Order: sequence, then C-alpha cells, then structure tokens
Amino acid sequence: PFDVLVVGGGPGGASAAIYAARKGIRTGIVTERFGGQILDTAGIENFISVKRTEGPKLAASLEEHAKDYKIDIMNLQRATRLEKKDLIEIELENGAVLKSKTVILSTGARWRNVGVPGEAEFKNKGVAYCPHCDGPLFAGKHVAVIGGGNSGIEAAIDLAGIVKHVTVLEFMDELKADAVLQDRLYSLPNVTVIKNAQTKEITGTDSVNGITYIERETGTEQHVQLEGVFVQIGLVPNTDWLGDTVERNRFGEIIVDKHGATNIPGVFAAGDCTNAPNKQIIISMGSGANAALGAFDYLVRN
Ligand code: FAD
Repeated sequence: PFDVLVVGGGPGGASAAIYAARKGIRTGIVTERFGGQILDTAGIENFISVKRTEGPKLAASLEEHAKDYKIDIMNLQRATRLEKKDLIEIELENGAVLKSKTVILSTGARWRNVGVPGEAEFKNKGVAYCPHCDGPLFAGKHVAVIGGGNSGIEAAIDLAGIVKHVTVLEFMDELKADAVLQDRLYSLPNVTVIKNAQTKEITGTDSVNGITYIERETGTEQHVQLEGVFVQIGLVPNTDWLGDTVERNRFGEIIVDKHGATNIPGVFAAGDCTNAPNKQIIISMGSGANAALGAFDYLVRN
C-alpha cells in the first residue's frame, strides 16, 4: 500500500505529493489530468516570484518537479469511490482499487458556466471567471459581471476599483448578496445593476465586444458594448464521487481542520475542493503542503 495517496493532480495535489515524497514515504498521485484547472488558464500573474507565466507552462513545471521525486504518477485515471477499512481504499473508474494508509483529496473545482453562445469561444479572450486573477487585465475597460450572489457582488466591487465601468446582470428580480455588500455596491459611482436580465449571448470578433440579454419583464432584447464578462454563478467542487463518506458543507466543499484533516481519520484534503475561503493557485499549493505534513504526522502517530 501507499503511505500517502493523493487524489487530484492540480497545484494542490502536486504540492501535497512533493511534500510527502520528501519525507521518504511511499507516495502516489492519481488524477484525471495532471495540472488541473491551470491547464485552462492563459496568463498567470499572481503566482508570487514568477512575474508572469501561462497555465500549461506552469502545469509542465509542476509535473517536472513531481517527476524529480519517487512519486507513482497515475495520470488520466478517475477515482469513483473512497472507503475506509483497515486501509483507505480508492476505487478507480477502470475497476482498480488502490490502498493507502492516508489519502489527500485535492480534486479541485470547476466554475459553473452560463452556457450561452460566445462563452466557450471567448474564454480567456474576454470571458473570465476569477476577478483576483484577471481583473487587472481589464483596467480602464467596461466589463459585465453575471450573477448577483455574494461572489458576483464581491467581484463587482473588486472590479469597480480597477476597471472603468461594471454592469451587473442578475437573472432574478433581486440581488441575493448580503445587504452590506449591496450597500457597498450601490455606493459606487461606476456600477450599473440590471435585474431580471437573462444573458443571451456574449458577442465578439477576436475577443469580447458586448453582451446581449433579455429583459425578462418585457421580453425585449438589449445589447451592451463592453470588453469583458466575469461569470460568477458558482464554483462547484469535484466531490460528488465521495458519496456520504467524507463530510462536506452545503456547497459540497470538504470540511477540513487547520491540519487539512477531514472527519475520517487518515483522510486529508487540500485546495479548491475544500471549504478554504479563497481558491487560488498559491493557496491550494500551501494547503497541499499543509495536508501532506498533516498526513505525515498522522502516520508517525498511528
Ligand atoms: P484543480 O486545479 O481543480 O485540480 C484538481 C485536479 O483533480 C484536476 O486535475 C481534476 O481533473 C482532478 N480530479 C477531479 N476529480 C477527480 C477524480 N474523481 N479522480 C481523479 N482526479 C480528479 N488562480 C490563480 O492563483 N491565478 C490565476 O491567474 C488563475 N486563473 C484561473 C483561470 C481560470 C480560467 C481558472 C478556471 C482558474 C484560475 N485560477 C487561478 C484558479 C486556480 O486554477 C485554482 O485555484 C487551482 O488550480 C486549484 O488547484 P487544486 O489543485 O485545488 O484543483
């Protein structure tokens, strides 16, 4: 069996595996695709100490770093079941069962898409999901935020300090964000809020040049010229496959303590699949390192 088996090979999982392997213990990593979300990322400017890089380049460096250690990398494999027996068992889609003394879950998350024409086509060409990551790319421009929940309104407030103008589009007839956030939003001079708006299309040529929505009350179609669209309708953790084993919150995020431990002894979690409040590369790497040290400590004591 493995001493530490990492499930998910994004930045969090890669960091966990390297930290575990550096303890000289038997380490494996099983993942659907090595690199995770950063494979879909264009420019990265907030991975501290690297001024600017691209997602696929960072993913390749992650893999190169991991391969420098004795880590059993099982790429293109999906975990479908976790069960705690004497050891912890992870079953894969292909039927194989891996056994380990400890497991670190780092299966990440995915942004919920609005699913309108133009969204996929203009991803990284004006369509963005992370204001902390891509906000500065839109300095001085006009952007839309789709979604009036807490994350949408936080994004709009954040972006309003950087960009020229923010248009918030909310499908329902009221914003769902906390009142304090709404108060702050409405105090800003460069924000327009449009409620009852159904996004129909993100338009553009080489990159985004506007957004079309339908006023739900009247059925009228409207078009706003702008250069960027931030989709903020939810980040979904990849944790469904865990069934009713590992404890999660109402968003599906794995609940961890400060050592990265879950409710199941020997099962740890790190990165975007957990209830950590912020989801970023540098944060998932830090929590991967922390969970690996937590798992090592658990091995020493058990
Ligand atoms: P992930 O990167 O999501 O990796 C999880 C891995 O687990 C994936 O490879 C997935 O395929 C795999 N997996 C999932 N389920 C299973 C399963 N059942 N079995 C096996 N494997 C599984 N952050 C920044 O800091 N700066 C940026 O500029 C930035 N830009 C971004 C741009 C985009 C378009 C996106 C989508 C995200 C961006 N982020 C950015 C966020 C950043 O990518 C994430 O915070 C980070 O990748 C999280 O790492 P993770 O290891 O926790 O999860």
